[in-house]
Amino acid sequence: MTISHSLQVDLETLARACRVLDMEGQTDLTQGHLSMRDPDGRGVWMKKRGISLRQVRSLDDMVLISWEGELLVGDGPMHLEWPIHTEIMLARPDVNAVGHTHAYHASIFSATNETLRAVVQGSARVLGGRVARYDLRTDLIDTRETGAGLAESLGAEWGVLMKNHGLTFCGPNVEGATLNAIHIESACKAHLFAASTGLAWDAPSEEEMVEKSNARQMDWLIKASWGFFSNKLDRFEAA
Ligand SMILES: [Zn+2]
Repeated sequence: MTISHSLQVDLETLARACRVLDMEGQTDLTQGHLSMRDPDGRGVWMKKRGISLRQVRSLDDMVLISWEGELLVGDGPMHLEWPIHTEIMLARPDVNAVGHTHAYHASIFSATNETLRAVVQGSARVLGGRVARYDLRTDLIDTRETGAGLAESLGAEWGVLMKNHGLTFCGPNVEGATLNAIHIESACKAHLFAASTGLAWDAPSEEEMVEKSNARQMDWLIKASWGFFSNKLDRFEAA
């Protein structure tokens, strides 16, 4: 299959985003995956199964999967949880990238029954501080039916905590989705820490949060934040 130059550039970004997630501590062995919508509408490009996020370098490390779960490009194997990606993209035309990790603090927070609050300024980078919850099952999302259920729980948000399992996140593009994953993980970390101090604490009001987070979803800011992590990755990998 011939890959156009622009698709090649997009896949390069997808590979770098996998490694940014690893650099930011979201790797759990070879689990966790990130995908992007195929520009020709054939399905989703995603990391293949059996390698870790830090090993994703080239097209050889990816697969193209159809909306029905058919392997279109690549040798595979495919992650069993491919329906997370296809079903969310089918349900959300505004989403072009989806990821799932077992981010440590988000996974712990998923087990609680608390609403995620914006303890620190950085937490406001998550849209409205609102992260959805999925608690229909704690095991793999490995069928179209469970994928559709997860997409329904996600609703219009950018992230969903999966009970006793992990985090699924998305964005208008690969960069935005990756940043959402990083911000949700750090918001969970801050909330868990504040709650574990035993001290009384507050979080901004709902209205203030929406205002703050809307201001932080601007394209130029996403670009600047991605630039920060991309630059950090270059230094990290050169060390
Ligand atoms: Zn998982």
